[in-house]
Amino acid sequence: MRYHAIVIGGGHNGLTAAAYLARAGRKVLVLERRHILGGAAVTEELFPGFRYSVCSYVVSLLRPQIIRELALARHGLKILPLDGTFTPLPGGDYLWRVDDHAATHRELARHSRLDADAYEGYVETMVRMARFVKPILDMTPPDPASRNPRDLLQLLSLANRFRSLSAADRRVFVQLMTMSAADFLAQWFETDVLKATMSASGIIGTFLGVRSPGTAYVLLHHYMGELDGVFRSWGLPVGGTGAISNAIAAAGRQAGVEMRTEATVARIRTKDQRAVGVVLGNGDEIDADLVLSSVDPRRTFLALLDPRELPSEFVEQVKRYRFRGASAKVNFALDALPQFTARAGAGHLAGAISISPSLEYMERAYDEAKYGEFSRRPYIDMVIPTLSDPSMAPPGKHILSCFVQYAPYARDRGSWDDAREPFGDTVVDTLAEYAPNIRNLILHRQVVTPLDLEREFSLTEGDIFQGELAPDQLFFMRPVAGWAKYKTPIRNLWMCGSATHPGGGIMGAPGRNAARQILGIRGPRFS
Ligand SMILES: Cc1cc2nc3c(=O)[nH]c(=O)nc-3n(C[C@H](O)[C@H](O)[C@H](O)COP(=O)(O)OP(=O)(O)OC[C@H]3O[C@@H](n4cnc5c(N)ncnc54)[C@H](O)[C@@H]3O)c2cc1C
Repeated sequence: MRYHAIVIGGGHNGLTAAAYLARAGRKVLVLERRHILGGAAVTEELFPGFRYSVCSYVVSLLRPQIIRELALARHGLKILPLDGTFTPLPGGDYLWRVDDHAATHRELARHSRLDADAYEGYVETMVRMARFVKPILDMTPPDPASRNPRDLLQLLSLANRFRSLSAADRRVFVQLMTMSAADFLAQWFETDVLKATMSASGIIGTFLGVRSPGTAYVLLHHYMGELDGVFRSWGLPVGGTGAISNAIAAAGRQAGVEMRTEATVARIRTKDQRAVGVVLGNGDEIDADLVLSSVDPRRTFLALLDPRELPSEFVEQVKRYRFRGASAKVNFALDALPQFTARAGAGHLAGAISISPSLEYMERAYDEAKYGEFSRRPYIDMVIPTLSDPSMAPPGKHILSCFVQYAPYARDRGSWDDAREPFGDTVVDTLAEYAPNIRNLILHRQVVTPLDLEREFSLTEGDIFQGELAPDQLFFMRPVAGWAKYKTPIRNLWMCGSATHPGGGIMGAPGRNAARQILGIRGPRFS
């Protein structure tokens, strides 16, 4: 059997690219190394009745046009809003921001009248910035070094868009691209816990601290989510983040995509500098007119291909592409809900819960990681999905999903295999300072270290975004300068995963953009 296209990797981006190509009449095969589709957007029942979103746990960046065009709701996707962020403080106080503006104003005023009054202006500014940047997510990056009139026109139109911003917004945009999240927020706010919790969005998935320049951009990246048209809304997919991958897979299947799991691609076959198919780990050869790789450039170009087939300058750039895993996940199955000392009840636990009591706490957590150790008191972002979606656990039981930083992939002392359980203990000890009953509630615990992310999920160096989201690895430089249009130096070999523009997160944009480029569709629309 010969295919029009083979997609390497059945993560949500590979599945998205496959679905769009199949809808355009192509015969597509997806090959996934694991026993299950989804990559880092996956739900697995690791203990009877308890279903974990093992890696990614919340969604906001998924492109609304993908939801619409692939009819994901019809294929079972349902996203529930995740309202609010609760930050407990060690002294017994807390900060609880919700989507209700008046309630958040009252809550912020408890901490600082100034901050309460500044909040709306901040939100409005970030929404304007997100609106400015968002169309860029759905475009193929123009190449500033190219003389192609299309690239020049696109660059000109971007420059014009920038000029159409007010002078104040232009300044804010430059600040976002250059400043640290902490410094950026300090221009609006004075309350330490507010700045600490908000700046946390700037370090998610990076090996940077809240005071490191560059983190303000990541703050904006996480602001661009759109759930039912509301900027900066996060949601919980019913059935975990695997439900997103499953819905995309169902749309693909309906369009005729064939999918194989436990099918590792060992090599991309080439002939005369063209991709002509793949070889599987078991030696099987499969032919195709096109090969799409949704895995990162290091794996694609240095492992699945012979780098000698590629221009040496390109190989050098691929070698310099940075992976810097600094995050881990600890998933708990709980007998009952944890009780936080700072506030009784459960209403405040239905949104995100953030262990980010102060900027100093956040920066100290980073300090330890800088010198090769995991944070003894880490930043933790957690959700209890069972409060909105009880189907994730047996009746009365709960899931607690903890995203933890910092857990540097490269440890100075010992291996992550030895550190896995001590790291899990650190997370429990940290949580117990705010919710002491947690220790007695834990039925099961899964610790996913950066090494596990690499081994099990093929995320090189445990980098959750398939490569750092730093300004020098974005847009026309992702994955490498001159090759950001999903094309590669090997003809008929394309990239379509989160190592391409616009980067990581459950967005689907890289997969959709790549398919559009392959099909030769101009402009952001599909039909
Ligand atoms: C711990 C963690 C928490 C996260 N939290 C969030 C979150 O809450 N919200 C959010 O939006 N994003 C989050 N992210 C990021 C998001 O999950 C990823 O950016 C996104 O899922 C990547 O999708 P992808 O399809 O580009 O790549 P991947 O999901 O990495 O898919 C690539 C696939 O290729 C397969 N593969 C690799 N090599 C081969 C081979 N040789 N042959 C065949 N198959 C192969 C892999 O098994 C994998 O399934 C998180 C990521 C992690 C790791």
